[in-house]
Formats: sequence, structure tokens, C-alpha cells
Amino acid sequence: MVANSKLVKQRNIPQEDVEKINKLHITLDEMVEIMKQNEVESENFKSALVIWRHCQTRLQILWKFDIDQSMWQEHRLPHCKCPKMDNDDRGNHSWISGDCPIHNNK
Ligand SMILES: [Zn+2]
Repeated sequence: MVANSKLVKQRNIPQEDVEKINKLHITLDEMVEIMKQNEVESENFKSALVIWRHCQTRLQILWKFDIDQSMWQEHRLPHCKCPKMDNDDRGNHSWISGDCPIHNNK
């Protein structure tokens, strides 16, 4: 995945930031792949969530968008057991499942 060139032009994103955006997307894609291939290890997955949020925040800054957690779609992460449709509707990950290895706070 590479940065949408139309949006790059529209938002006047400098080339060096486009490269950072592309690298962040690679990191996120690789992380999702690693999560898919691995058994659930709660502690590792919680670290993955911290990295996920950090990268998403960086992306929104680089794209010159406001920081908006509802755009991060973290209920779509592999092994997340939180409700999908409810979180799609409400954004901001309002709904957390008690047995989710990524989002529960136990
Ligand atoms: Zn979850």
C-alpha cells in the first residue's frame, strides 16, 4: 500500500512525509500479518496495540488530519473479539469484549 497520490496533492504533503507515511503503512501491514500468524499472547498483543496506536497517531499528523481514534479501526485487528458492527457504527472503540486478548484490561 502506498499513499494516495490525489490526497497527497490535495493536502500538500511534502515528499519526505509521503515516505514516512508509506513506511508506517508497511509497519502496520507487517504487524497485522505477524498477529494473524501468531497464537494469542495477551501481553504481546497489548504491546502491539500500543505500537498500532502510535503509528495511527503519526499517520494522522503526517496527513495533517486531526487525531481521531474512531478512524483507527482497531476492532479489525486479528484476534480482537470486540463487537465489529457496533464499533463500526459508533467509532472510537466504544464496545470492548471482556474476553478480547487485545482490549480487555485484565
Ligand atoms: Zn478487542
